[in-house]
Amino acid sequence: MRIEPHVFHADDLIGGDLALDLVNTVTARDGAPRDRLPDYAALLQWARANDAFGVRDLAALGRLAAASPAKARAALGRLKLLREALCSTLYALLRGRTPAEADLQRIHAAYAAAAAAAQLRRSDGRALRSWTPQLSQLDLITHVVAIRAIALLEEAEFARLRICDGHDCGWVFLDTSKSGRRRWCDMATCGNTAKAQRFQRRHAGVERRAAG
Ligand SMILES: [Zn+2]
Repeated sequence: MRIEPHVFHADDLIGGDLALDLVNTVTARDGAPRDRLPDYAALLQWARANDAFGVRDLAALGRLAAASPAKARAALGRLKLLREALCSTLYALLRGRTPAEADLQRIHAAYAAAAAAAQLRRSDGRALRSWTPQLSQLDLITHVVAIRAIALLEEAEFARLRICDGHDCGWVFLDTSKSGRRRWCDMATCGNTAKAQRFQRRHAGVERRAAG
């Protein structure tokens, strides 16, 4: 897969779910896919653009990655294996196909590793699982995403889960619109491109008719 450096902003995080946003760090899955996570620093920038991670934790991960670049590369590799297994599983389910057993096992193995590294902590009168750089090390982001991925697969309203209709996109998102008819990841990008293409086709048709 081609690597494409990218600076992540809020409009890259439109999946409606952390696990979906991770899948969307590869773009153009419907054509020539481009992976926007060239290195661990890019992953940290993606994580900073999310609200699922603590600033101090991400700073600690940055220090760990700087101290052990080889370990950071290996951790990024594990994250991408989870990302691709999740993507294949979602695509299969959304297209009415049976997901590959190897992908399901991979997602569950990531979940099991995440569960093993979790701590149960008191928080606002409840007990919540949390993950720390001390226990999860460079896999902290993978651990948090793995937990969300299982929750998504078990609990998501699949009728609201979509693959963007846009060309050169392939992003996945939860359609939370009232009408439940959202077709594009983002109206401002894929939606507008689709509208422009329809306009061009209509326009070309008019010209052909005029010429004939
Ligand atoms: Zn799109």
